[in-house]
Amino acid sequence: MTICFICFEPLVSTFDWRSLLNPSSTDRVCSACLQKCPIISSDICRGCGRSLADLASSHYELDTCMDCQKWNDASFFNRSLYTYSNFMQSIIERFKFQGDYEIIQAFKGQWYKFYKKECNPKAILVPIPLTEERLYERGFNQSLALAELLSDNIEMPLIRCSGTKQSKKDRQSRLTERLEFKVIDSSMVTNQEFLLVDDIYTTGATVRQAAKCLKEAGARSVHSLTFIRA
Ligand SMILES: [Zn+2]
Ligand SMILES: [Zn+2]
Repeated sequence: MTICFICFEPLVSTFDWRSLLNPSSTDRVCSACLQKCPIISSDICRGCGRSLADLASSHYELDTCMDCQKWNDASFFNRSLYTYSNFMQSIIERFKFQGDYEIIQAFKGQWYKFYKKECNPKAILVPIPLTEERLYERGFNQSLALAELLSDNIEMPLIRCSGTKQSKKDRQSRLTERLEFKVIDSSMVTNQEFLLVDDIYTTGATVRQAAKCLKEAGARSVHSLTFIRA
């Protein structure tokens, strides 16, 4: 018997047209759980991929939110599949902090479809690295797990330097401090196109710092794909 990877209820395997027309419905998730996962589907900010419908009109201009106007880097953009909710937060907590590595399989079909629709197929996937200490503590890199659901064209040209946890810093120090990434070998980077992969885009500081680091080492283009836009 197959069960939903989120709520563990049995998945009803009756014949349905959706499974014929859409192979992604073989996702290990029930329709009740899937309905609680809010896909970003309205007009989005061209910089960070957040839903503009969720913002007050004073928080964006044309197709760009105020946060992205402050970043002032039109060459970078992020796309995210889901918007933040308490339900999504509980899934990320099970995935990252309780070691429920398999839960992400529930989203494989939607995540892959979104990647195919939104992203440059030639770009090399670069999961955001963890520091050595964090990798040891967690046992796996959640961004690598997310990237592996999309393609095997994955490289790890960056290392992450030890420092304070992002979640413990306030917004201002996240935005102004020195880079926390280093390129291992710039010959891996020169003239390449990259797609950074991470679980959550919150302020954007992490993916933008990683992108800056790759660009300074000679990357032709760098964008990012995150599972959730907080
Ligand atoms: Zn379920
Ligand atoms: Zn934005």
